[in-house]
Amino acid sequence: MMRAQPKASHFVDGAYLDDTNGAAFDCVYPATGEVIAQLHEATPAVIEAAVMSATRAQKDWAGWRPVERGRVLRRAADIIMSRNRELSELETLDTGKPLQETLYVDATSGAEALEFFGGIAPTINGEMIPLGSDFAYTKRVPLGVCVGIGAWNYPTQIACWKGAPALACGNAMIFKPSETTPLCALKVAEIMIEAGAPSGLYNVVQGMGGVGAALVTHPGVAKVSLTGSVPTGRKVYAAAAEGLRNVTMELGGKSPLIIFDDADLEDAVSGAMLGNFYSTGQVCSNGTRVFVQKAIKTQFLARLVERTKAIKLGDPMDEATQMGPMASEAQRRKVQAYISVGKTEGAQCLIGGDTPEMDGFYINPTVFCDVTDDMVIAREEIFGPVMAVLEFENEEEVVTRANATEFGLSAGVFTSDLTRAHRVVDQLDAGTCWINTYNLAPVEVPFGGSKMSGVGRENSRAAIEHYTEIKSVYVAMGAVDSPY
Ligand code: NAD
Repeated sequence: MMRAQPKASHFVDGAYLDDTNGAAFDCVYPATGEVIAQLHEATPAVIEAAVMSATRAQKDWAGWRPVERGRVLRRAADIIMSRNRELSELETLDTGKPLQETLYVDATSGAEALEFFGGIAPTINGEMIPLGSDFAYTKRVPLGVCVGIGAWNYPTQIACWKGAPALACGNAMIFKPSETTPLCALKVAEIMIEAGAPSGLYNVVQGMGGVGAALVTHPGVAKVSLTGSVPTGRKVYAAAAEGLRNVTMELGGKSPLIIFDDADLEDAVSGAMLGNFYSTGQVCSNGTRVFVQKAIKTQFLARLVERTKAIKLGDPMDEATQMGPMASEAQRRKVQAYISVGKTEGAQCLIGGDTPEMDGFYINPTVFCDVTDDMVIAREEIFGPVMAVLEFENEEEVVTRANATEFGLSAGVFTSDLTRAHRVVDQLDAGTCWINTYNLAPVEVPFGGSKMSGVGRENSRAAIEHYTEIKSVYVAMGAVDSPY
């Protein structure tokens, strides 16, 4: 038995399910390169079983009192928290992220989504519209069977960020994790059953993009929520359009982080490091274009290099480790290629740029300075621990340069002048902006992208809009006024 082998590849209709006719694929522990589980891609039969069971469960679930639905989600949140260590260790095996992170931000963030949406489930109401003696009312009705497709950087969180609002609104969910990190979502499915959800309400099916595509175009599916890259987003959005399906797209970014010369220097360095090195840089909202005002550039870079040097890479299961490997060998190669391009383009590599002598897919945290706006490393999403530092002189210039990108996921500003902070944020094209911090995404706050970074919002009450539709009911109180 391999180290993290699940009972079966899929979780359908309330139980583990396998179909060995599906192509086999390995789950690899990124810190060692060891194969820790082997799974099978979902066959058409598995996909059909998932859609059928979800369809049946959704009809039942939509008839539950909202407070009872909410109770199931809140119970699931409690179970996750009571098993946090075990789930965090699995998250670490799945992704390679250090326990120092996964113990605090993965299962816990998934649990918070379940708690939040469980709590607001009974408040998802329509309105009454007076029309003289007649009136109308609206209902917020579920969409039906929703498909969630995940990326590999936050497998538990993504499974919950999509599942919790979908279920709170009375939908069912079929979740396809990234093929790189197939393990964690199965635990979420298991826990939903333990919490009292009907069989089939939350299913997990495994596979590559083809399985995702088959789900997106299935006639029984009403909505798709994807977390992934822009090229995949384009394909999934187009496929969903064929059936006029509702979509949420959480895609990539190349977000600006602007540091003015009146900022608290230590905080600004902390923000830049968190926004580039957390999760080994594999965070969609990372502030990978760090614009530093000319007067403080030298001090900023000196502190940044000093603190980056002290980052402890190593065994992710050691709680003292601060940075783990990339999630896959393919991703490490992609990041290394970008580092080479940065050097060829003439950016100065201040620290890192190489790989440590360790097994696994490690890469040293890397800082480039003298980066210019036209360089590839300043334009394309790298999705690794590679920071690009750019210099700027004044506010107007930096706002224009910050917005000169096809992406619009996030942005950050560090300054002690709060008027300026709000003025600058007001002009930045981004779904989420941070003032004097970076990358915090609590469930109470809407999260999502503008421009090429996405469509729709996750978290907060805003997510309800994307998992329900409005039904209007006109009620006549008198005789029908007819000209015929
Ligand atoms: P990816 O686009 O390669 O894959 C994402 C998912 O889509 C995977 O599960 C994959 O199997 C599936 N997929 C691929 N082709 C498909 C198709 N044709 N139809 C249906 N599904 C298909 O992304 P990734 O490499 O796993 O993740 C990294 C990307 O995700 C980065 O661009 C990152 O910025 C983005 N991301 C965004 C957010 C956000 O909230 N905005 C969060 C995390 C990651």
